Amino acid sequence: MEHVQVLIVGGGMSGMSAAIWCQRLGLTCVLVEQSQHLGGQLTQIHNEIWDYPPNIYPNGAALLQELSVHPALRSIDMRLGQKLLSIDTLTRQVTTTKTVYQPNFLVMATGVRPNRIAALQSCKQVLDPWFSSTAQGETVRNQVVAIIGGGDRAVESAYNLAAYARTIYLLVRRNSFRARSQWVKRLATCPNVHVLFETEIDSCSEQDGKATLHLRSKHPDTPAAISADWILPRIGVRGNSEALSELATYGDGYLVTDPFQATANGWIYAIGDVTNGAAYASLSLAAGQAMKAIKHISLQTKEP
Ligand SMILES: Cc1cc2nc3c(=O)[nH]c(=O)nc-3n(C[C@H](O)[C@H](O)[C@H](O)COP(=O)(O)OP(=O)(O)OC[C@H]3O[C@@H](n4cnc5c(N)ncnc54)[C@H](O)[C@@H]3O)c2cc1C
Repeated sequence: MEHVQVLIVGGGMSGMSAAIWCQRLGLTCVLVEQSQHLGGQLTQIHNEIWDYPPNIYPNGAALLQELSVHPALRSIDMRLGQKLLSIDTLTRQVTTTKTVYQPNFLVMATGVRPNRIAALQSCKQVLDPWFSSTAQGETVRNQVVAIIGGGDRAVESAYNLAAYARTIYLLVRRNSFRARSQWVKRLATCPNVHVLFETEIDSCSEQDGKATLHLRSKHPDTPAAISADWILPRIGVRGNSEALSELATYGDGYLVTDPFQATANGWIYAIGDVTNGAAYASLSLAAGQAMKAIKHISLQTKEP
């Protein structure tokens, strides 16, 4: 068992910012990240980032490149390829795929992951959940795509991919969009997008690289099945909080914290998307919360 002062789980913007603040405030920390690289969602951002002042970055990779040469990040104890498995809140034992830690403080910076659709679990024609409709549109050129969801990301994806795909079916569970009106208006200009409201996928079968989606719908004119080359689920994300199942969450697995980012279990903090929910997901907030959490920890360690 390894004792550490601050254990940070997650190497995205919030985890990296927390590591920088540990250095700034004289705390020793270990950062564990399940993948083989830092960055988290930064590696999935293909759009321009113009709301993380003061710079404008062409994409997440460019921002990550700048961050990776930050002197504080170059010297931290970072352990890649190590996944958090469980947390014993009584004994403070934190188990990862490689070791068991006993930290004074644990900072959960584990972000979010896309929701999946059970009926599509074994379907090979499903695009990667982080598929970028801005950077990877060529993948669907002249093909038929079924996009599932009615929020911003689903409608934005349908609009972006309409420029490449032959036909797009947009399957929406509700009877209206949740997406912002600006996206819905843009979508109305795309003649190759067919919106099927109040429609869900019952099951999926595949043959010769094509998927047949069997549909359940309240509308009599909706077809019983559609055929698609690719399926793109865009049904939101959920917080990566399962290692802390006994702690309070709201919405889709987002950890509840106090104003200093501490959970009800005082030695465990949560920062970034895992606590913010989709509506408030942002790089600025992730970085700001990291400062608050680590400052709060540092003030406690100085108390007699
Ligand atoms: C396409 C796209 C565009 C975006 N555009 C913008 C934008 O323009 N401006 C903006 O402000 N925000 C934007 N965002 C949102 C922004 O990227 C996020 O709010 C921010 O990156 C969240 O950082 P995070 O550190 O909280 O989480 P993440 O970046 O999700 O990082 C979490 C990390 O934790 C790791 N992890 C998860 N579980 C475990 C585990 N059990 N053990 C070990 N490690 C684990 C993950 O591998 C990941 O590296 C965008 C997001 C996307 C997807």
